[in-house]
Amino acid sequence: MPVTTPRATAGAAASDSHVHDAVARSFAERLRRTRSRMEELDVDVLLLSQGGDLPWLTGYTAMPLERLTVLVVRPGDQPVLLVPALEEPRVTRRGELFDVRPWSDVEDPLDLVSDLVGRRCSGRVGLSDQAWCKTLLGLQARIGAARFVAASLVTAPLRAVKDELEAEMLTRVAHAADDVARAIQASEVRFVGRTERAVADEIAERLLAAGHDRVDFTIVGSGPNAASPHHESGARVIGPDETVVCDFGGRMTVPGTDVGYCSDITRTVVTGRCSREVAECYAVLQEAQEAAVRSASSGVPAEDVDRAARSVIEDAGLGGAFIHRTGHGIGIETHEEPYIVSGNTAPLVAGNAFSVEPGIYLPGRFGMRLEDIVLATPTGPRRLNEAPHELVCVEA
Ligand code: ZN
Ligand code: ZN
Ligand code: ZN
Repeated sequence: MPVTTPRATAGAAASDSHVHDAVARSFAERLRRTRSRMEELDVDVLLLSQGGDLPWLTGYTAMPLERLTVLVVRPGDQPVLLVPALEEPRVTRRGELFDVRPWSDVEDPLDLVSDLVGRRCSGRVGLSDQAWCKTLLGLQARIGAARFVAASLVTAPLRAVKDELEAEMLTRVAHAADDVARAIQASEVRFVGRTERAVADEIAERLLAAGHDRVDFTIVGSGPNAASPHHESGARVIGPDETVVCDFGGRMTVPGTDVGYCSDITRTVVTGRCSREVAECYAVLQEAQEAAVRSASSGVPAEDVDRAARSVIEDAGLGGAFIHRTGHGIGIETHEEPYIVSGNTAPLVAGNAFSVEPGIYLPGRFGMRLEDIVLATPTGPRRLNEAPHELVCVEA
């Protein structure tokens, strides 16, 4: 049930209704899986507010406002989306999936939710991990006997297994990010003499031009700044013969919905000449990334993928320079389950999508990282990113 083949824009209109059918089927199946897991875990009600769960289940993303948006999922009843009246025009109605109940500014939405849940409810109620604290406190005051748990208990393992529509979206958005990475590697983006922020802004523009609907982040870390993994691109002017870490991502919207899927890619380039030390470190990094990707088959504990990358870097005597986990799941959110980290013994399953992004950081000197998104499939790991992995010297 491919939505469209990646980059195949011709014929997109013809496949439009096909896409909408696929979307509708995906949502129905997600609700079915959610209900069955609620039953399994003895969670009576699910309250989905801000964060990725609500769009995953309904195609609607709540604005992070003080006014409450929440989907109430109860056994046996059609889910109800309580939405501020002024947000209602943004909701795409899916009558077969959920009802919409707009609330006005003179109503108390917490009272409305509590009535739907039942004020005497003494069961387990799952609330979105990213709901406001005041929502939880307000509900606890009204539904005193309920036991509140994190909604992710129910949703995270479900969301971590991508369906065909999601795998297709992640592939398309990864290829859009590849286009920008390739442009960087082909020296279409100038580095030397420009500030990190100027380069970051250009990368953002290129992400949009390549098909993203929104830019989430653009990290450009040059020279010693490259040694800070989440460096905030700033006023530093990039010089010759420096390593520059470019890590960027955005999202692409599923047609007919308000939900997007994320890209996240890192490529490191050298402006001009590459020192022997940088080249040697990069060879280690590339081998580490390759080993981790190769190991990432379903059935393999997530922590073993981290170990595969880390042991290559440790064996080269650089273990202390790899200061973060190897990767994170990706989907509606840039960071979600499964986390590729020591201690996560859960085996990967087909449909897991995650980053593999080892790095080597030498404080005060230079840094480097190489990141691809990988999909675990029944036939082994599949890289969704295709931009070259070699260390490219730009403007040499
Ligand atoms: Zn990161
Ligand atoms: Zn990244
Ligand atoms: Zn990442």
